[in-house]
Amino acid sequence: MLLRHTPKEITERKALTINPAKTCQPIGAMYAALGIHGCLPHSHGSQGCCAYHRSALTRHYKEPVSASTSSFTEGASVFGGSANMMQAINNIFTVYGPEVIAVHTTCLSETIGDDLPQIKKKALAEGKIPKGKYVISASTPSYAGSHVTGFSNMVTAMAGMAEPTGKKNGKVNIIPGWVEPSDMEEIKRLTNMVGVKTILFPDTSGVLNGPLSGEYKMFPEGGTTVAELKSTGDSIGTLALGEWCSADAARYLDKEHKVPCQVLDMPFGLQATDRFIDALRMVAGVNVPDEIALERGQLVDMISDMHQYFYKKKVALVGDPDQLIAMTEFLVSIDMCPVHIVTGTPGKKFEKRIKEITKDMGGKVNVKAKGDMFLLHQWIKNEPVDLIIGNTYCKYIARDEDLPFVRWGFPILDRQGHQYFPTVGYKGGLRLLEKILGVLMDRQDRDASESKFELVF
Ligand code: SF4
Repeated sequence: MLLRHTPKEITERKALTINPAKTCQPIGAMYAALGIHGCLPHSHGSQGCCAYHRSALTRHYKEPVSASTSSFTEGASVFGGSANMMQAINNIFTVYGPEVIAVHTTCLSETIGDDLPQIKKKALAEGKIPKGKYVISASTPSYAGSHVTGFSNMVTAMAGMAEPTGKKNGKVNIIPGWVEPSDMEEIKRLTNMVGVKTILFPDTSGVLNGPLSGEYKMFPEGGTTVAELKSTGDSIGTLALGEWCSADAARYLDKEHKVPCQVLDMPFGLQATDRFIDALRMVAGVNVPDEIALERGQLVDMISDMHQYFYKKKVALVGDPDQLIAMTEFLVSIDMCPVHIVTGTPGKKFEKRIKEITKDMGGKVNVKAKGDMFLLHQWIKNEPVDLIIGNTYCKYIARDEDLPFVRWGFPILDRQGHQYFPTVGYKGGLRLLEKILGVLMDRQDRDASESKFELVF
């Protein structure tokens, strides 16, 4: 048992993280950049960083992830990476011809202090950026924040491409946050059903869940186009899904281009999806279409049919703030008890929000931002749970404590399906419940005595 050494006694740790519940900023920036059509993410640092970020994404999405690197060696580490970056811009546009190069920094280039906007200015002045092509950049030092911060920073850089014409386009910007490509598809399906014209950015559907066609394409079909990103400044409003992933970009558009924004929770579960649909309905000035009311009714039906299996089941959760807030609310709404909740992303606001959501649940809730999975494991040892929901790394705790486990979040390295089956919206809520019920009922079957072994649940 890999984690048998985890002690039950909790001692205060200030300068030590064990089994982090987060990963590095550039991974988030790279994922966001892949949601731009024809974009090549570029890692301004050494090759090792870029190889790690690409492989982390490939392992989760099971798709090849192309990205370039400034390939720092000792020289760049001492004198700065400006020359490498200039050479890279030239090579990338000449050899691969992307529409956009989305540059993110790494720990090394941040420590040196490379100034990306300045380098871009120089590249423009020297004619290294062809007409109609773009270089955007985000600062993503990994010694601060987490992959969520990197994602948010790159999405804000995307919002920086807005070029308002002064004429409204009648569309609503939707910033979906770090959700699966399948979730982005589902958000587009729901907005179409309500009848709202949208610009979704970033949009990794059709990029990281594309078909095997037998034909290699350097840049897949999907992604938000440059024309759409330019047009975000002409939109009638922005719906940002998630405070941590999406709000900065939405507020940027609001402040710079007077595109009013509303920050909502990610639409996981019944109530958060209700609020999302309601916001869309208000924008479109329509009633909720019957097809959506039907999907909602199906989710409510499953919740009421299966309520006895959810009731008072204790859950441990690990993941990213935006996802955890919506998931906690969903679990509380179906009478489950999320008792231990950890994210690796800093932010006291997260702890406050979770406490608000769980205040009527009864009993104490352990919640920690900037926490780690070691702490989560210790909490579980002190107060056992019936279920863990989180990324693949939870499998060690689940095995050690012999607990049912639902994989959800990032990264999922050892299962399939997350790229293709959404967990947002009412349909996504059904899938989440199906996964939760599946592991709980499997456990009941496994542990039942002969006389209690049920055919029908
Ligand atoms: S050095 Fe920094 S940017 Fe590079 S992989 Fe490590 S944490 Fe990430």
